[in-house]
Amino acid sequence: MAFVNRKIRCLRRSNLASIALESDFKIYNTLSREVEPIQTLKKGHLTFYSCGPTVYSYAHIGNFRSFVTADLILRTARKMGWQVTYATNITDVGHLTEDDFSDPSGEDRMAKALRSKEGEQFSNVWDLARFYSGKLIEDWHILNLVEPTIRPRATEHIREQIAAVQSLIDKGHAYETSQGVYFSVTSFPSYGQLSGNTLENELEQTVRDVVVDSEKKDPRDFALWKKDDKHLMQWYSPWGWGFPGWHIECSAMAMAYLGDQIDLHAGGEDLIFPHHECEIAQSESLTGKPFAKYWVHTRFLQVEGEKMSKSLGNFFTVRDLVAPPGEGGKGIDPLAVRMTLLSGHYRKPFNFTIKTLKGNVKHRERLAEIVTAVGYPSDDSRTYDGDLGSALKSIFDRALEAMKDDLNTPTALAALFGGTKMIQAKLATLSQTEITATRSWLADMNDLLGVVHVNNNVLASNVKPDEDLNNAVEALLIERQQARMDKNWGKADEIREALTALGVEVMDTAQGAKWKKIGGL
Ligand code: AMP
Ligand code: ZN
Repeated sequence: MAFVNRKIRCLRRSNLASIALESDFKIYNTLSREVEPIQTLKKGHLTFYSCGPTVYSYAHIGNFRSFVTADLILRTARKMGWQVTYATNITDVGHLTEDDFSDPSGEDRMAKALRSKEGEQFSNVWDLARFYSGKLIEDWHILNLVEPTIRPRATEHIREQIAAVQSLIDKGHAYETSQGVYFSVTSFPSYGQLSGNTLENELEQTVRDVVVDSEKKDPRDFALWKKDDKHLMQWYSPWGWGFPGWHIECSAMAMAYLGDQIDLHAGGEDLIFPHHECEIAQSESLTGKPFAKYWVHTRFLQVEGEKMSKSLGNFFTVRDLVAPPGEGGKGIDPLAVRMTLLSGHYRKPFNFTIKTLKGNVKHRERLAEIVTAVGYPSDDSRTYDGDLGSALKSIFDRALEAMKDDLNTPTALAALFGGTKMIQAKLATLSQTEITATRSWLADMNDLLGVVHVNNNVLASNVKPDEDLNNAVEALLIERQQARMDKNWGKADEIREALTALGVEVMDTAQGAKWKKIGGL
């Protein structure tokens, strides 16, 4: 298998010429604790990974606050003319209930959900995962989030995770006990660089006394693989039946699709420690190279000043807000919900209030009135002639500048509202030139902020989404063909396994091998 993995890695690396590009897109980097201009590894091409949800239930609007931050990074980069390759995962195994320790413990969230009242409608945990993954993607589109280039699932990348764990053992960064395989924190001296939880202070706050496995060499060591032949979702590994640790899945999937090094990694603030700290330790121990250059974290959403919780009755999913009243929702315009999520800066805790939501419903009504009056462009052409045109163009430029300045959404939204007012004042008397400029402006503002018009068919990338995958698969198929001609069946089988690990099914036909993605979304 090693030669196959090497081959895949080579293919990926060849796409990553390391050219630094000074840009004026600035972002706060949790790693450096500074606002920095983004310099992409590859000129004009941003590669980024954002941690997706654990699909044990509907995602709530807090989750979506974090996903919207990633969406805005993507939209801003594209508006600057960059290409973007954006991966965001679905976690469908391994995320345990007690996850704020470096080595999470408790029950798998998926299994717990299956035993709950809501879980009764599912015949098994796989059905539950499939159902909530589908709902996540529906909500994603309802809130006008751009479809990622790739949305990998943890359960479809177990082979990569096993290979990563084995490699960490081989390199002396991990060890096996009777209960699992652990990453040895002392083998990675810069552990703690992201969160400030350094080895020197012994991570006292976070380790507490949750040492579940007494064979662990150090209480801070965290699980890469949990041995458990009773777990509802289990796989066979070199260490017996079990399931992967939560942290390894994101390292493995990010590296599988984006390469050893990526530009940016995002998630909610709770992921700084332990999840992202552990991802850095694993990925950098595997490759010996810096993993992600920029780490972006969204502060938590609260509702009416309180923590969002089911028991307080202030817990909202997207559908709680947007479904028609007859179907259990409040019938609110989804783009007003999105606008509300944008109204606070991602780096400040956000207080979601019904008052702000209602205010944004009004803003949305004004925008919708303009869209109805002038129409929404069906192509990418943008023309800003005349006085109104140049005024609108400079409003758009201001909004783009604001977004390039650490995603300053309040300023960008203020620009949107200013332009809306300007257009409304003369809506009844717009000339054809002014209508064209208004339409261009609506589309540009929507490309940037996504609050003007729902466009579900947008893909994250203007490169072919699966270009890397296609290249890797085609190269492996050629090798497999050669192995079969040489009657080297062992090698041919290994290659087929590697293709399965890439999520690809091969069909041998009279016209040669054909392939398709399995279980893709
Ligand atoms: P989870 O489903 O718990 O794995 O979370 C998915 C994403 O949502 C992660 O990036 C979390 O950090 C983020 N997240 C969870 N709760 C909130 C919240 N209240 N506000 C903002 N982001 C959140
Ligand atoms: Zn993650």
